[in-house]
Amino acid sequence: MTSPRATIAFIGLGNMGAPMAANLVKAGHTVTGYDIVPAALQALIAAGGKLASSAADAAKDADVVITMLPAGEHVRDVWLHQGGLIEAVKSRGPLLIDCSTIDVESARVVTAAAEAAGLAMLDAPVSGGTIGAQNGTLTFMVGGAEDAFARGKPILEAMGKNIFHAGGPGAGQAVKICNNMMLAINMVGVSEGFLLARKLGLDWNKLHEICSTATSNSWALSQYCPAPGPAPAAPSNRDYAPGFMTQLMVKDVKLSQAAAEATGSPTPLAALALTFYEKAMQAGDATKDFSVVFRWLAGQKR
Ligand code: NAD
Repeated sequence: MTSPRATIAFIGLGNMGAPMAANLVKAGHTVTGYDIVPAALQALIAAGGKLASSAADAAKDADVVITMLPAGEHVRDVWLHQGGLIEAVKSRGPLLIDCSTIDVESARVVTAAAEAAGLAMLDAPVSGGTIGAQNGTLTFMVGGAEDAFARGKPILEAMGKNIFHAGGPGAGQAVKICNNMMLAINMVGVSEGFLLARKLGLDWNKLHEICSTATSNSWALSQYCPAPGPAPAAPSNRDYAPGFMTQLMVKDVKLSQAAAEATGSPTPLAALALTFYEKAMQAGDATKDFSVVFRWLAGQKR
C-alpha cells in the first residue's frame, strides 16, 4: 500500500494535470510538479505544490510519479527518451502512473520498459473533464498488475470518485478509447438535437430540462450541453474555452479508428463524427472545447 501521505511528482500541468495535482496537495500529499510551459506551473504553486526544473528533478524523491501529457509520443518521450524518467528513478522503486489518454501500444511499451527496470506501472486515463478534475470526481480506468493497482488506488482516490481496475497493462487505455469514441458521436447527436429544436421553435432550456430526464439523456446533454445556456458550467457558456480541446478529441477518435482498423471492428458513425471535429479544427477551433462542434454544425447548410 502506498502511504496515505506520499511524495508525488506530477509531470504535465495543463487543463487536467493542474487541478489533479492541486487535489493531491489538498489530500495532504507533497507534490512537486514540472511542465515544459512555465506558465502552467503557476496553478500548482498557488495550490501549495513545489516546482522542479525537469521531470527527473521532480521525481528524485518521489514515492509515486504521475504523468498527464497530451499524447503517446509525449509519454514515450518523457519516460523512455529525452526525459528518460524510468532510468532516472529506477533505483528508488516508485510507483509509476500515466493518466494521459494514449494509444494502447505506447502504454504497453512504456509499462514493459518500467517492468524491465523493476518498477510497477499503471495506465490510468480519466473521464470527467476539467470539471471532474477540479472537483476530484474523475473516473479512473486503470490497466496494470493487481498489486500495482492496490498501491495506486489510494493516490487516485484523492483525484477521483470511481477507480476501476480494467485489466492488465493497456486495458485502461482500451476502455478510454472506447469511451471517447462514444462521447464524440454522442456530442454530435446532442448538437443536432438542439439545432433542430431551435428550428422547431423550442426553447433550449426547456428541451434540456425535459431531455435530461428522458431517454436521450447523457453527460454531453445534461452537464456539458453544447448549446449555450442550459448547463451553466459547460464550455459553451464561455465561448467554448476548454475543457477538452477539439485537437485532443481528434487524437482520441483517431486512436479508436486505428484500433477499429487493426481489429476489423465496424465504426462508421465514429468515422463520420471524426470528419466533423477535423473540419471544426480547420475552421480555427483546434484549441476550443470539442463541444464547439455544435457551432461548426450550426454554420452548415442541410
Ligand atoms: P493540456 O495540453 O492542457 O496539458 C498537457 C500539458 O503537458 C501541457 O501543459 C504541456 O505543456 C505539458 N507537456 C507536454 N509535453 C511535456 C513534457 N515533455 N514535459 C512536461 N510537460 C509536458 O491537455 P489536457 O487537457 O490537460 O489533457 C492531458 C491528457 O488528458 C490528454 O491525453 C487528454 O486526451 C486527456 N484528457 C483530457 C480531458 C479534458 O477534459 N481536458 C479529459 C480526459 C482526458
